[in-house]
Amino acid sequence: MKFFYFLLITLFPVIGMSQEISFAQNLYNTYESYREPSLNSRRITHANILPLIEKLHHNSKFVVHKLGESVEKRELFLIKIGTGKTKIFLWSQMHGDESTATMALFDIFNFFSANDYLNESRERILRETTLYFLPMVNPDGAEVFQRRNILEIDLNRDASRLVTPEAILLMNTFDSLDADFGFNLHDQSTRYSVGKNYKQATISFLAPAFNDKKEMNEKRERAVKLIGRMTEVLQQFIPGHIAKYSDDYEPRAFGDTFQKKGTSTILIESGGWKDDVEKQFIRKINFIGMLSAFNSIAEKSYEKITRDKYEAIPMNDNQLFDLLLRNVSVEKNGRSFSLDIAINITEQKSGRESQGLIEDLGDLSIFHGIEEMDCTGFSLVDGKVHTQTIKTEEELNEIDFQKLIENGILFLPVEKELLSYSLQGISRSRFQLQFVEPGDFHFQLKVGGQSAFYLYKNDIPKYVVLGGSLLRLKN
Ligand SMILES: [Zn+2]
Repeated sequence: MKFFYFLLITLFPVIGMSQEISFAQNLYNTYESYREPSLNSRRITHANILPLIEKLHHNSKFVVHKLGESVEKRELFLIKIGTGKTKIFLWSQMHGDESTATMALFDIFNFFSANDYLNESRERILRETTLYFLPMVNPDGAEVFQRRNILEIDLNRDASRLVTPEAILLMNTFDSLDADFGFNLHDQSTRYSVGKNYKQATISFLAPAFNDKKEMNEKRERAVKLIGRMTEVLQQFIPGHIAKYSDDYEPRAFGDTFQKKGTSTILIESGGWKDDVEKQFIRKINFIGMLSAFNSIAEKSYEKITRDKYEAIPMNDNQLFDLLLRNVSVEKNGRSFSLDIAINITEQKSGRESQGLIEDLGDLSIFHGIEEMDCTGFSLVDGKVHTQTIKTEEELNEIDFQKLIENGILFLPVEKELLSYSLQGISRSRFQLQFVEPGDFHFQLKVGGQSAFYLYKNDIPKYVVLGGSLLRLKN
């Protein structure tokens, strides 16, 4: 008798889980039919989402309510769907350059607009929950792709003082809803690792603390359990790529404040995924993660999860560089030294071009590279500076970058006004010569310096490092 009793207890969560796993797998497999096709890059602006919100306004399933305006008079909207008694509030992009979840929210709206084989799950969610969405809290920051709002205030440090109109709107909306669950949607550095691991933290979760002692109460524990469930579901798509964000209490932040006010709040940070610069795969993982959370809330399946699932998630750590070249041979004063070279890609706020800057040199054996190579037997050879100074855009557009690289030239002197010129049609990693001011420039291997050089083996150029990327040369 005891045996059967035991069996019943252990089987129940498993049955619930398999429904949730198959729902998530279905979302994964048919994601393309929900993906909002007009949003394709991280640099989305308010103008990109306005027509989509207008469309929801004419869709009887949704209620769209104008909340107010940002400093630069861009409208903020609250979008509501569902009739259930559990209220869930989600807000995205309070940091203007953190758009991954915003894109996923519009995929989620398409999911709820659809009528297909997932109707049963869809209707269950809308029967059991009411969902409130506030996409792009910081449209002025998004306009110029910057973290802070246009007053240069970090909205996530304005939850207490409430100076900015965006923070006031977010707080008032939160107070008027009194939601059971809150989802605080952000992006984090693509270079965060999962613990002391070489894997990128693609998604990091947090159930924010509500006091300095980081105590647990019923509401926070509910967030902890739901994160445990979301982690179980998402592990199948991004195994080993889920971490936990630091839970230091920050009274000026929204997540911490909302947790304190009694809404079970979950922070989702979208990090990095190899070769997903525009974060379109991570957007898909956001889509699945959030819908799986709604499904779990509707089913109340998260209640069965124990706290140790959350506690077992490794912390975010700093173990990664964008590119790590190990054991490169470098000549100096007629002697040869072996060193590791770490390079990080710095994205320019104004345009798409990026720079690869040298972050560290020496023994970097405790670190990992998102891209890395053992360069034993390779020696570093400086790139040359082009003899001709480029004076106009026309001259620049006529240059055959590939040919210059083949001829050992990696630095291009350009007139000052061309220094910030964006190379249209040239992807951020390919053939991106380093622009330098005309004059007496020569390459120096130093921390904080440009990373543009060749890797030779047996006196033959095998690779070129440019814009933070390692490119193989045809020989
Ligand atoms: Zn953020």
